[in-house]
Amino acid sequence: MRLVVLGPPGAGKGTQAVKLAEQFACADVATGDIFRANVAEGTELGRAAQEYMDRGDLVPDDVVIAMVMERLAERDCQSGFVLDGFPRTVNQAEALDRQLADLGAPLHAVLCFEAAEEELLRRLAGRAAAQHRADDAEQTIRHRLEVFAIKTRPLIDYYAHRGLLINVDAIGPIEVVTKRILDDLEGNRRPG
Ligand code: AMP
Repeated sequence: MRLVVLGPPGAGKGTQAVKLAEQFACADVATGDIFRANVAEGTELGRAAQEYMDRGDLVPDDVVIAMVMERLAERDCQSGFVLDGFPRTVNQAEALDRQLADLGAPLHAVLCFEAAEEELLRRLAGRAAAQHRADDAEQTIRHRLEVFAIKTRPLIDYYAHRGLLINVDAIGPIEVVTKRILDDLEGNRRPG
């Protein structure tokens, strides 16, 4: 299974991506997690990404694309992957399409998580308290939601045009949302 999870910060993509990767026994590739690990380890990639992350801006496409293409070439991604947090721009989506076309391994579906802004703000404030993420400070949260609306939202149309988009109501207990997604994926596979 090759999936992308798309949606604003706080919509629960990361939580569901872990569940889906378990369910389909495939790799969970979360670009934000990879960047945070690199920042913590003080690598060159981490140094390149940190200032953008702290501001709530996107890390430049060339940096992200190179990192993800390398990651997708790793062995564990051969059995499939759930991409969480990538692509976030049309440029990134086009690069992903090219790579997957070269590999003869196109995406099965793109899950678009939807939740009202006040719910997102509530969840992100909770996460800021629990995880001490620098980019979950209130001003930065608002900026990240704007960045999503401007840079990432166009991907909804991009994938809808390709017949890959599945909208997910992201409100509800974790297990309920997971079940909704699995049912939708199953429904999508049925002919007709
Ligand atoms: P996330 O944990 O997915 O919310 O990502 C945290 C931060 O990492 C984002 O606010 C960006 O600064 C950076 N980041 C993660 N994925 C990407 C991406 N695909 N493109 C650009 N920046 C990214």
